[in-house]
Amino acid sequence: MKHIVIVGGGPSGCMAAISSKTLHPDAKVTLLEGNDRLGIKLRLTGGGRCNLTANVSADEIIKHTPRNGRFLYSSLNQFNVQDIMHFFTSRGLALKEEDHHRIFPVSNKAGDVVSVLENELIKLGVEIRFKSRVVSIDDKHKKLILEQGELSFDHLILAMGGCTYPQTGSDKHGFEMIESLGHSISELKPAEVPLVSNAPIIQSKELQGLSFKDVSITSYVNDKKIFSVTHDLLFTHFGLSGPGALQSSSYLCDAFKDNSTVSLMIDFLPNISFEDLENDDLDLILMKNTIPKRLIQVFKTQFPDQDLSYLLKRFKLELHGTRGFTTAFVTSGGVNLKEINPKTLLSKIHPWLSICGESLDVNSLTGGFNMTVAFSTGYTAGANIEL
Ligand SMILES: Cc1cc2nc3c(=O)[nH]c(=O)nc-3n(C[C@H](O)[C@H](O)[C@H](O)COP(=O)(O)OP(=O)(O)OC[C@H]3O[C@@H](n4cnc5c(N)ncnc54)[C@H](O)[C@@H]3O)c2cc1C
Repeated sequence: MKHIVIVGGGPSGCMAAISSKTLHPDAKVTLLEGNDRLGIKLRLTGGGRCNLTANVSADEIIKHTPRNGRFLYSSLNQFNVQDIMHFFTSRGLALKEEDHHRIFPVSNKAGDVVSVLENELIKLGVEIRFKSRVVSIDDKHKKLILEQGELSFDHLILAMGGCTYPQTGSDKHGFEMIESLGHSISELKPAEVPLVSNAPIIQSKELQGLSFKDVSITSYVNDKKIFSVTHDLLFTHFGLSGPGALQSSSYLCDAFKDNSTVSLMIDFLPNISFEDLENDDLDLILMKNTIPKRLIQVFKTQFPDQDLSYLLKRFKLELHGTRGFTTAFVTSGGVNLKEINPKTLLSKIHPWLSICGESLDVNSLTGGFNMTVAFSTGYTAGANIEL
């Protein structure tokens, strides 16, 4: 009996195991996960509610993928957002759509998403082995070396994720093993990551804890505008977090490395024009738009000579770095896509190898886009194995 082995029990590996077993019911399919349960990182998405996809077209998914989005066309053709949602709803998990097209389980429990995947794996007869960390790959003998024991395979799917939040089980060791098979890895950088600012207004911590809904944020590198987004923002003791900051970070990670000047311009009142601000009752506008009094007080004390309307519409903050891999949501960089067939996700180096999910040199914005990439590429990898 042919043996398909998948390494990694995140969204990508689970979906790869499901599609490979569905298409090769006579093969033995084994899913290896280093942790004692599936989908530890998946359980953290959407603040623990699991933002499993975004209800938008394939073109929009690609648009929301700052790095190598076009590589995804073929995978999204084979398994798109509607397929992901149907997969879960047809197995009894009710879904709901929230702001920015983000899809969550109605139960608001990430564990329910994992349960659907796990039940399907069990129903199909996939063998799931927990606490089974792979330490190296013997490509000559098509054998995995585990912390305890060895395992032979006919086809191997690597779905070991990126290297952010390493405590979830995905770390740089996965990339080292892929490199040991002859694949090249483009530079790994944290993306979708909180932003650090040494500006006095941040370092004074006076804005810490203030959060804003749907403010307009424009990113600049050396005064050149490179990205704009309207999303939620949170001031922290080190700088900025929340979806608006995270999404902006994906366009800034290279600039921090080059020592370029990086800044954000925040418009706290994107729906109010300068004219309205000048002419209408400012206090009323601030109240209606729930602008916190603390922001106004801090602006008045830190910038006594500047016009308040200007600060509210054009607040510029210099940035000095990111919080790094330990707090990044995704990895920028990964397996060189020239070495992977986009239609099948088969390695161009080894015909017995497929690679999917965050390990690939593709990264999207937060908001369900990375999860979509994981499910879609996982499905495609599993569905295109030739035994
Ligand atoms: C806090 C947080 C919030 C996020 N929020 C969002 C969001 O809102 N929207 C969004 O789209 N994305 C979000 N993401 C990103 C998203 O979770 C990932 O992109 C996605 O989980 C990647 O799926 P994957 O299957 O490729 O990898 P992973 O989910 O990382 O799964 C890989 C699995 O492989 C296992 N593994 C690794 N190496 C080995 C080994 N050697 N042996 C055995 N097992 C191994 C790991 O234990 C892990 O379970 C978030 C990430 C984080 C950290």
